[in-house]
Amino acid sequence: MTTLQDQLQRPLRDLRISVTDRCNFRCSYCMPAEIFGPDYAFLPSDKILNFDEIERLVKVFVSLGVKKVRITGGEPLLRHNLPELIERIHRIVGVEDIALTTNGTLLKKFALKLAKAGLSRVSVSLDSLNDERFFEMNGHRGKVLTVLEGIEKAVEAGLQVKINMVVQKGKNDQDIVSMAQFFKEKQHILRFIEYMDVGNSNGWRLNDVVPKQEIIESVHQLSPLQQIVPNYKGEVATRYQYQDDQGEIGVISSVTDSFCSTCSRVRLSAEGKLYTCLFATDGIDLRELLRAEKDDTAIIQRISDIWESRNDRYSDERNEQTMTKRKKFKIEMSHIGG
Ligand code: SAM
Ligand code: SF4
Ligand code: SF4
Repeated sequence: MTTLQDQLQRPLRDLRISVTDRCNFRCSYCMPAEIFGPDYAFLPSDKILNFDEIERLVKVFVSLGVKKVRITGGEPLLRHNLPELIERIHRIVGVEDIALTTNGTLLKKFALKLAKAGLSRVSVSLDSLNDERFFEMNGHRGKVLTVLEGIEKAVEAGLQVKINMVVQKGKNDQDIVSMAQFFKEKQHILRFIEYMDVGNSNGWRLNDVVPKQEIIESVHQLSPLQQIVPNYKGEVATRYQYQDDQGEIGVISSVTDSFCSTCSRVRLSAEGKLYTCLFATDGIDLRELLRAEKDDTAIIQRISDIWESRNDRYSDERNEQTMTKRKKFKIEMSHIGG
């Protein structure tokens, strides 16, 4: 097996596969309803990678060093026969871990099938326990109870469960403590995600971000925390354990404390484009290669070239710019005040 390294000596380890561009939610920070309305042109089915194509690509990626696969979307559970895809990926020698990120609305129905197919872990997104605020954030589509029932079923099915909460100032920051308390009692790891400037449609402003430090301080007031070591190099969440030993939380702080230096993730979109960064403006079309009947050697070569020339570090760069702006701001203030 080849060990690929990019320009910043980062290996290729994780593959995130989006299996659909569609979603039954319209979260304002991801697919706002004003843009993803009834006339929005989602991909037609013949433009989406089929299971044979995905399986073939996973094998190629494994030969290049990938060990972990995460299935995402859109809402991945909207993809017809998803457990079959999980089963196929599970059978590939070299895949050590398969995870799924979902909004949880269909988890009650699919949890057992997914677990039987070989899924090991599920991250369920839930932004509030308050129905009104949750409804507001998901574009008036889903109820808290449905997601909680999905989580219960996932646990019963033997899946490892984590909860993801995107925190947006003025929208759900008042729910940080209640979410922490609830999931501490349930013994589930809750991961707070700093609201990010992904895509072009969410109208992101730095002022809408609740920084990691603020989140930690709020939870620390509820029950004292201590930072603990990552489970592995490149883990995206910083981990904190409750000092009473009753569980842990995580914070994914791509805005205030970025982690590009250990980023070993590559993303495959539903239409088969490869993105070497969450913030990349364009992807490389692998579907074309697959459908042009190129053999695996040609595809392996293309992906190796892409990874070896990769130098993405978007969040680190944004941080550096923000710091420079803050510094400039400070200098101007001292001029006026002094
Ligand atoms: N639909 C599934 C879900 O919501 O879990 C999977 C896809 S969703 C794009 C994957 C994760 O990205 C979710 O946890 C979601 O909350 C997070 N996300 C989406 N937009 C975000 C943003 N602007 N900032 C931070 N996290 C975001
Ligand atoms: Fe859908 Fe997930 Fe995006 Fe919300 S975050 S709109 S559930 S894809
Ligand atoms: Fe990786 Fe890009 Fe995120 Fe940095 S900004 S951690 S390179 S996906």
